[in-house]
Amino acid sequence: MPLLSCNMNLKDLDKMTSQMSNTGKMPVLFLGHGSPMNAIEENEFVQGFRKVGREIQKPNAILCISAHWETHGTYVTAMQNPRTIHDFGGFPQALFDVQYPAPGSPELAKETQQLITATQVGLDDKWGLDHGAWSVVRHMYPEADIPVIQMSIDYSKPPRYHYELAQQIHQLREKGVLIIGSGNMVHNLRRVAWERLNDAFAFEWAHEANEKMKQYILSGDHQPLIDFKSQGTAFNLAIPTPEHYLPLLYALALKEENEPLSLFNDKPVAGSLTMTSLKIGTH
Ligand code: ZN
Repeated sequence: MPLLSCNMNLKDLDKMTSQMSNTGKMPVLFLGHGSPMNAIEENEFVQGFRKVGREIQKPNAILCISAHWETHGTYVTAMQNPRTIHDFGGFPQALFDVQYPAPGSPELAKETQQLITATQVGLDDKWGLDHGAWSVVRHMYPEADIPVIQMSIDYSKPPRYHYELAQQIHQLREKGVLIIGSGNMVHNLRRVAWERLNDAFAFEWAHEANEKMKQYILSGDHQPLIDFKSQGTAFNLAIPTPEHYLPLLYALALKEENEPLSLFNDKPVAGSLTMTSLKIGTH
């Protein structure tokens, strides 16, 4: 992936974010995105996304870690106008017709790159917004008037690396940047109960894994969540591949000691997915 040469002015971001200087830390979200159809369907989950969008102050910019952008190395999107990526197949034309024309923020990309010292973060000019980002953000901010950048997930790195990488961008919360991890806590597409797509049904292992994850999340015990590969059969079935789960670790890593945390959209879908989402912080 080519590196973009950027001569952006960081003062622009400071100018942009200084308006927020008295409003405190932005919350952090983990959003269970589920089926791409949630982008255009009306259901309780999209109502949950809209509600959380109304609860929190309007951000200056959004940084999204989506399950659907995995790379070797870590990249941030740095283009001025990210394209809407329809990274799925077999869905109705109406879903392919969706555009989410939010601007990018080369300034925020550069600032993120500078904050992270664990690795050399690349500036990407090819990606855009994949459905892990736009299918949820469009419900929160339908006017597409807030700049959105994405940060990729380095598939070559262990879970702890992702948790520690996320900690390096905590300062962005104080600059009016809303950080969103978008994935699913329980996500096993090979075990989907296709005949129960519209049921709030969970297989026993999916229920068990989701309940244990919630216990660890609510008690602030992140270690077993980082060590998810050692948590037994239910976790192994819930997380057959890590990409939908890792955005949760990014969100949890940004939680401060005594910050409030609330769950929403806490329901299973089709046996082997859960939509459980969380909000860290207030405002
Ligand atoms: Zn997904």
